[in-house]
Amino acid sequence: MIPAVTLYNGAKMPIVGLGTWRAEPGKVTESVKVAISSGYRHIDGAFVYENEEEVGAGVHAMIEQGVVKREDLFIVSKLWCTFHVPSLVRGACEKTLKDLKLDYVDLYLMHFPVGMQSGEKIFPSDENNEIICDDSCFLDTWEAMEKLVDDGLVKAIGVSNFNKDQIEAILNKPGLKYKPANNQIECHPYLTQEKMINYCHSKGITVTAFSPLGSPDRPWASSDDPRLLEDATILAIAKQYNKTPAQVLMRFHTQRNVVVIAKSATPSRIKENFQLFDFELSQGDMKTILGLNKNWRGFPAKWWVEMMDYVVSRYSLSIS
Ligand code: NDP
Repeated sequence: MIPAVTLYNGAKMPIVGLGTWRAEPGKVTESVKVAISSGYRHIDGAFVYENEEEVGAGVHAMIEQGVVKREDLFIVSKLWCTFHVPSLVRGACEKTLKDLKLDYVDLYLMHFPVGMQSGEKIFPSDENNEIICDDSCFLDTWEAMEKLVDDGLVKAIGVSNFNKDQIEAILNKPGLKYKPANNQIECHPYLTQEKMINYCHSKGITVTAFSPLGSPDRPWASSDDPRLLEDATILAIAKQYNKTPAQVLMRFHTQRNVVVIAKSATPSRIKENFQLFDFELSQGDMKTILGLNKNWRGFPAKWWVEMMDYVVSRYSLSIS
């Protein structure tokens, strides 16, 4: 039995999942198949990763071969920012389901708290290369997402890249039907997110850690950026347990009851990243790892924080 966290709707979300961002369409079907064959039951995807058809092909191959049943799997997808206008939400979700060839996803997240101009472009921008926001407010988008639960397209809804104030705005929304089941955020030893995790857990909201290995493949990485997989403290702890640095980085989350999703398109690493349940980091080592925090982000929040200012001023929301 794979350890899981329980969503407030009672669903079990396996604590380790396979990430699929930047998993090339030509490779991701195989990655999903290797993952499911190796024991993974949770796959994290999104419309914006532009590979949901191939992710779905991997899932279906494993169902057809009798390796798993649909109900054994926990499939996550995310609503992209250009579909925040409430009338667009259902169509966006239907497109994801069509690509995945599934009747439902287990968890559907609002990828960011800001909407962008709808249309063909995934990142609509103006002549100065600035992202173009739309007039939507994430509270209205949330209402449209609640309807997806009622209509059976998704089992649960959640958020991603939301800060405390933004979550509070949803929790305090008049007429709220479903609170967020999960907040997916960047989290690793250089960004330990202690306040956010404690806050979410105190509200019955599970947390998923993205980029647990520091996202070394992110396109904007600079040679000066710190590299988690090469951190001397992590290397020393890994040696002590006869584990790899990636396994220590991932185990760190499961011991905090935080779901963790690492991406790999390399079969040996996909398997390695799942071998987390045959060792336990001591309390002292957990403390040492927490001490590495430097509030460093591989995904600088600036651009969506600035867009958030736009949403706040437009709707006079009482959030900071
Ligand atoms: P990760 O921290 O998971 O790092 C992935 C990189 O690490 C890849 O280049 C991979 O290479 C490499 N890698 C994987 N396993 C190992 C290993 N055992 N040893 C050494 N290197 C390894 O980065 P991501 O940013 O991809 O985050 C994980 C997932 O989180 C994403 O794929 C996505 O699903 C989700 N995510 C969500 C975001 C959001 O806004 N909600 C934002 C970013 C990510 P290779 O593939 O070549 O093996």
